[in-house]
Amino acid sequence: MSESGTRNVIIIGSGPSGYTAAVYAARASLHPLVLEGSVTAGGALMNTTEVENFPGFRDGIMGPALMDEMRAQAERFGAELVPDDVVEVDLTGEVKVVKTATETYTARAVVLATGSGYRKLGLPREEQLSGRGVSWCATCDGFFFRDQHIAVVGGGDSAVEEATFLTRFGSKVSLIVRRDELRASKIMQERAFADPKLEIVWNSVVEEINGEDRLESVTLKDTVTGETRPLDVTGLFIAIGHDPRSELLQGQVDLDDDGYVLVEHPSTATNLPGVFAAGDLVDHHYRQAITAAGTGCAAALDAERYIATLD
Ligand code: FAD
Repeated sequence: MSESGTRNVIIIGSGPSGYTAAVYAARASLHPLVLEGSVTAGGALMNTTEVENFPGFRDGIMGPALMDEMRAQAERFGAELVPDDVVEVDLTGEVKVVKTATETYTARAVVLATGSGYRKLGLPREEQLSGRGVSWCATCDGFFFRDQHIAVVGGGDSAVEEATFLTRFGSKVSLIVRRDELRASKIMQERAFADPKLEIVWNSVVEEINGEDRLESVTLKDTVTGETRPLDVTGLFIAIGHDPRSELLQGQVDLDDDGYVLVEHPSTATNLPGVFAAGDLVDHHYRQAITAAGTGCAAALDAERYIATLD
């Protein structure tokens, strides 16, 4: 920290991208401050059970345990971790200003790593059974549902893609579509219609998610007749979209039409000098812990090089 109290780097967010950026920045002796968020410190993996695809854990690791390890690793090298929410930023000047409800921090560089949130159905058991049959990520969890009946909710490209992918594992996949048509592209639709394991349930919404410790079934409601019926599934994949957490950044850094931060690929530089972005906040496509960690590493290296140009 300089005499004026300005830090080298502030990292906003504490998922795999934020903590990885913290490990790299701390090991480069930049003494990063990580503003972790209050209730959601640790990021998206705090809401899941087994993670089987993060390299280095051949028997898998529970999501919260993985995030505890990343946090401890960042702390070991001297990252300062504060479980607080950032409520306002001014990133446009040479000195970046980051505010929580009670503190104002300044830094020469900022790494934005606030992730994105999957849209939820808003049903009572949805959170409780997350990681216990209810999922938002086929790449992450499809493998757990071998030879089982799986439901996928949604009618866009990602829902159809997830449903088609899940037919590799499930005995049957039911795609629950609110209307009598799909929004997905023609080619995705044709692939779905031709798949013998994929059933499309038109004009239907999930009205209830049922099960105590694990998902046992869902209750479907017909959007035309209003009739309800049970569907016995042990997997429910919700694919109705996701929203980047970029509200703070409106009017500051350039965002794309969906609100994701635009970076100068392959670097993590935003349109503002000294401001870098990583993880799901940037990424429409891969949305994995390892890709978030990878871009978090890149953001720390980019910040380190940027700071070196100032000295
Ligand atoms: P996140 O993990 O979302 O972290 C963002 C962080 O920013 C949070 O800590 C939040 O508190 C913080 N934040 C947000 N706003 C503010 C603010 N204003 N101030 C301060 N902090 C803020 N991926 C896999 O590779 N394997 C899996 O098995 C897997 N399973 C998953 C299971 C579930 C249920 C979910 C939801 C996702 C899963 N994923 C999995 C995807 C993976 O979790 C994400 O791709 C990854 O966490 C993205 O990392 P991130 O650092 O970009 O963002």
